[in-house]
Amino acid sequence: MNDHANVSRADLRVLDHWIDGASEKPAGGDYLEAVNPTTGLAHLRVASGTADDVARAVAAAQRARDAWRRHVAAERGRLMLALAAAIRANRDRLAEMECADSGKPVAGALAEIEGSAQYFEFYGSLVYLPSGDVLDVAPDQHVFTRREPYGVIGVITPWNLPLNQAARAIAPALAAGNVVVAKPSEITSQTTIEMARLATEVGFPDGVINIVLGTGPEVGEAIVRHDAVRKVAFTGSVGVGRAIGRIAAERIIPLTLELGGKSANIVFEDADLDVAAAEAVKGFTLNAGQVCSAGTRILVQRSIYSEFTEKLRAEVAKITPGDNLGPIITPAQFQRVQGYFKIAQEDGARVLAGGKVAEVKGQEGGFYIEPTIYADVDNAMRIAQEEVFGPVGVAIPFDTEEDAIRIANDSEYGLIGTLWSRDISRALRVADRIEAGQIFVNVWNTMSVQTPFGGHKNSGYGREKGIEAIHHYSHLKTVTVKI
Ligand code: NAD
Repeated sequence: MNDHANVSRADLRVLDHWIDGASEKPAGGDYLEAVNPTTGLAHLRVASGTADDVARAVAAAQRARDAWRRHVAAERGRLMLALAAAIRANRDRLAEMECADSGKPVAGALAEIEGSAQYFEFYGSLVYLPSGDVLDVAPDQHVFTRREPYGVIGVITPWNLPLNQAARAIAPALAAGNVVVAKPSEITSQTTIEMARLATEVGFPDGVINIVLGTGPEVGEAIVRHDAVRKVAFTGSVGVGRAIGRIAAERIIPLTLELGGKSANIVFEDADLDVAAAEAVKGFTLNAGQVCSAGTRILVQRSIYSEFTEKLRAEVAKITPGDNLGPIITPAQFQRVQGYFKIAQEDGARVLAGGKVAEVKGQEGGFYIEPTIYADVDNAMRIAQEEVFGPVGVAIPFDTEEDAIRIANDSEYGLIGTLWSRDISRALRVADRIEAGQIFVNVWNTMSVQTPFGGHKNSGYGREKGIEAIHHYSHLKTVTVKI
């Protein structure tokens, strides 16, 4: 954001914080400009918050905290279901905002919005989860545990699936009885604000969901440092995750880190190669490859390597930038992806398809990249080790099952592992040994709200989604009563 765009700013729409159930201007009066990546032109002025705005939001959250907790579970659930319905009813408008902010194709945006509604629906139904146990310790004691909310939860999210990632953390936090201060990416702030506005409209008490807009170092860090914020859910890059982790360690507060990936997609010779090729290409081109779980390393058994890489090339040919492939998010990221083309070439990778900027008629200022695959890649090359965050996949040959496992695990990340084989015993053997938070067999990344999601290694810790996530938003108290 803000690293380009010399356009007239006078008539740009303005987006302010959402604090205590109302739109609020930034205390410092500053705004950033958000750029539409399909045109390269500024389209929105976004409040650039400060620690003062964070303090206002946290104070509102603290005031709302008791009221929200006193809401019986059924009332919290009802409001969350109402919010899910409101998100669905507004899906076209929300998708339009998401497309303007990030340039993604509308079908992708609609799927993400539907997922966002499902998070509120799923966790809205989970408010009835049992919240403790009775422990049989001694005949003269009544001992029980209860799950209690932390209070104020800080939520910091990235730009690639904006509303979806915000809903993924906010919904379980609310269901567990917490209140929230969230910061979306300054590049894609619209839908998170709109979600908070809809929450107020359907009857959420003021201050339960507060959104502070602005940059990471200003607003994000102030959220993590604020004394009253008792847990943080962060989704984003490893570097920022580490920085936040240091602050959380000093403050001794729990943290969920959902970070990057360089996931392996392993194709054995006995797989259905047509399905595997189509899904493998989807795996690194969905959202223009700007997905943490992208299957960017395609490990192909040597006996089918040439046949399979030809199939990959044919699948890539079905993808058209500007149509079913969106742009890269910012000029800086656009340059970074192009930098990897140079690196891959210098390291000796062979271009199978793409490898250059795409020209899209009518969107000449857009940040488009051709869908790209490199062949004959060694896993030690930078193009195989580093998260590119563009529509770029690499095909790496392997000989044996043991090789495939070794190469798949030779990565700092461990988010997803996908494998393609008709041999179920092999699939289970390999699934057992891949170091990743989720494994898919003969399907790529189904992304259901019910399935716990998170990383191994540098991909992070803690879990979002599923019943598992709700337990990350409460802590346990044991009560012992002498009878
Ligand atoms: P990023 O780390 O740059 O930013 C993420 C968020 O953190 C943004 O809201 C940003 O403003 C904020 N931030 C930046 N610096 C901060 C600081 N010092 N203190 C507090 N907050 C700060 O990531 P990005 O570029 O927006 O997103 C891409 C990254 O996110 C990729 O690495 C991707 O893999 C990862 N990601 C992971 C998941 C997952 O679930 N594992 C999902 C989506 C994206």
